[in-house]
Amino acid sequence: MKRTRLVIIGSGPAGYTAAIYASRANLAPLLFEGFYTGPAGGQLMTTTDVENYPGFPEGISGPDLVERFRTQAQRFGTSLIGEDVESIDFEAHPFVVKGAQTHIEADAIILATGAMAKRLDIPGTRDGEFWQKGVTACAVCDGAAPIFRNRPLFVVGGGDTAAEEALFLTKFGSRVYIVHRRDQLRASKIMQERLFKHPKIELLWDSVVAVVEGDSVVRSITLENVKTGKRSVMEAGGLFFAIGHLPNTAFLQGQIELHPNGYIKIFKGTRTSREGVFAAGDVQDHEYRQAVTAAGSGCMAALDAERWLSSVP
Ligand code: NAP
Repeated sequence: MKRTRLVIIGSGPAGYTAAIYASRANLAPLLFEGFYTGPAGGQLMTTTDVENYPGFPEGISGPDLVERFRTQAQRFGTSLIGEDVESIDFEAHPFVVKGAQTHIEADAIILATGAMAKRLDIPGTRDGEFWQKGVTACAVCDGAAPIFRNRPLFVVGGGDTAAEEALFLTKFGSRVYIVHRRDQLRASKIMQERLFKHPKIELLWDSVVAVVEGDSVVRSITLENVKTGKRSVMEAGGLFFAIGHLPNTAFLQGQIELHPNGYIKIFKGTRTSREGVFAAGDVQDHEYRQAVTAAGSGCMAALDAERWLSSVP
């Protein structure tokens, strides 16, 4: 079996940035670009315009930004493998990393597999229907798109993410509705206060979205009151799921310590519960979840791995 100094798993900003730094440090990393959550490149692949990544004052599309990360990583000597990692044996050292075809030994590993925004399976919101044509799971990524301007916008969820996204969307929508399945929010008190006093925000309690309809974009949604069963149709320009994220850690099979919410536990810098295993990006960050913060932590993981590897023959 081939042996390498460093394997990086994940093809978002965290993984590619780790690869850029590690390859410039002559570690010749191998990066697994998986397809577990869609095309390689992570959540940026479903983002139209990235307007908050420094260095691109005119904005850049998510896929274009990913392509630049990838090209830069390859330029300095990163090898890319287009396979999902299926399992890792962390008991052996070097670790044994297994993809569908590639099996490789690695002295160190950087986990950068990201997280997936949860979606609901509602008629009209699926791929090929209005997904990414008015239905998204990231207001901060997509909310500024022209299709949402001066239209009624709906956010599903009752946590801090829903609150934050609703407040963000008030900059663009004519009105912002929060659709929550209960009659009490989970969001922190301070966020709740901001919602309650915002003139553009309205809470639709005990409600779920039953159907989304439109033509080339979203035009209306049907709401259902879970207590009375009553349905009502409202004009809509967009629907944003804010019901939490799921970190992509299933392939770790319980061998790395996680927080109760499923995110990888970090001990110091980017160190995980295993010596020689580091984590970067959304798979270990349930709070910031931005491309630029993921890239920053990818850099940190590469520097931590390089230092750790200097003591491993
Ligand atoms: P969360 O706190 O788990 O809230 C998820 C919300 O989605 C809940 O209100 C939940 O309803 C609702 N939900 C879940 N599944 C649903 C379904 N199938 N149908 C309808 N609604 C559903 O997740 P989050 O808001 O993403 O926050 C995650 C963590 O990040 C939290 O600790 C939060 O405090 C933190 N965070 C902090 C900030 C900040 O401080 N600025 C910003 C964002 C996130 P129920 O309430 O009925 O369960």
